[in-house]
Amino acid sequence: MAELLKLEVVTPEKYVISEDVEIVMAPGTLGEFGVLSGHTPFLTSLKPGKINYKDASGKEKALFVSGGFSEALPDKVTILAESAERRRDIDIDRARAALERAQKRLAQEKADNVNFERAKIAMYRAIERIKIAETRGL
Ligand code: ATP
Repeated sequence: MAELLKLEVVTPEKYVISEDVEIVMAPGTLGEFGVLSGHTPFLTSLKPGKINYKDASGKEKALFVSGGFSEALPDKVTILAESAERRRDIDIDRARAALERAQKRLAQEKADNVNFERAKIAMYRAIERIKIAETRGL
């Protein structure tokens, strides 16, 4: 059996998960990366997207992460995120409503840059939540 490492995902509001896992895949700002037990320590920022992992029984699971930071140590990966939800906790209707709101803001001609950037990031969050929620079998 593969060596396990601990995966912890934490937001300012809650502990999202703390599990022993075989492998973690995460959306780094420089590209997706994978971590196995014994990995060289590193720190990176994250963009909105999907964290995939295999739990101790080999089952694949997914969660949404809104962006934040990841610290990988040989026996542990800690993800500090602004928000995160397990796949089954994603409210897809809420994400669809958020996507629609963001798209409407982006379509407004006189939107200033700040609102435009905020709306763009909100749109990415909503799209990623919808993609993860629609994935079957995780
Ligand atoms: P919304 O506009 O619907 O609030 P958002 O992208 O602005 O979406 P966040 O700021 O990322 O929301 O998250 C705020 C809180 O709401 C967090 O606790 C997050 O886990 C939760 N949350 C946001 N959207 C969803 C969703 N679609 N399903 C479940 N929880 C969600």
